Amino acid sequence: MRAAELRHVAAADDLPAYTLRLSARAKHIRLTITPRNGLVVVVPRRMSNYDPSALLRERKRWIDDATAHFADRRAALQRDPAELLPTTIELPATGTRWDVEYRDAAGTAARIRSSAGRLVVTAPAGDPGVAIAALQRWLSARARDHLLPLLAEESARTGHAYKRAEIRGQRGRWGACSGRGTITLNRCLLFLPPELARAVVLHELAHVPQPNHSAAYWHELARLDPHAAQHRAAIRHAWDVIPAWAEPDSAGAHRASPADGRPGARG
Ligand SMILES: [Zn+2]
Repeated sequence: MRAAELRHVAAADDLPAYTLRLSARAKHIRLTITPRNGLVVVVPRRMSNYDPSALLRERKRWIDDATAHFADRRAALQRDPAELLPTTIELPATGTRWDVEYRDAAGTAARIRSSAGRLVVTAPAGDPGVAIAALQRWLSARARDHLLPLLAEESARTGHAYKRAEIRGQRGRWGACSGRGTITLNRCLLFLPPELARAVVLHELAHVPQPNHSAAYWHELARLDPHAAQHRAAIRHAWDVIPAWAEPDSAGAHRASPADGRPGARG
């Protein structure tokens, strides 16, 4: 489902400009800051009259820090999207690293060829968006090659059977498990160390018999992944390492859940 979006500019002098997004999926209020969208207040749809002024004042320190953290990338994005194009790509989950070379194409389509640690992206000159889209497709293909076998392997090991698996590039969500047994994994997991990518796979597999975050769920997860708590803490900050080009909408979301410090708010 696509969230309805409303743009607001704060009236009060002491508040930063922000976008309020009503989300059907969100269960709690949260703040995100991205180079592309700036400060976004995500609000569950049922709370459509919510006024975030008090929250924004309370979280001013975090907002200022996160804004400063992204100031450079945001400036680059506004100046020239070509600056997002990576010259190297490192995928720690698979232990691979690629040098990326760009060549101008005559037509309008992009093509990527790879050989031993080298990617050659042939894309129309003057339209970095086409090259970025091609790199995202390439990343999705690497994710299918690596994450789906990993999921199958862990499923066999743990005895937790899923029905279907999908790779997505959705923002702010490492994985999901639907009530019908479809497990979705984020292609950006490839940017994480192998143990964290595996931890997300186990988190979703543990949802097969327990489609919730009940005590029974956490008990089952601890059985599958004895270091689940440490992994979960590490994953919480892992969006910071995702390169902007890999995220379709939000270019490296920096997120916080000010209204909710509980584990299991998502995925
Ligand atoms: Zn979960």
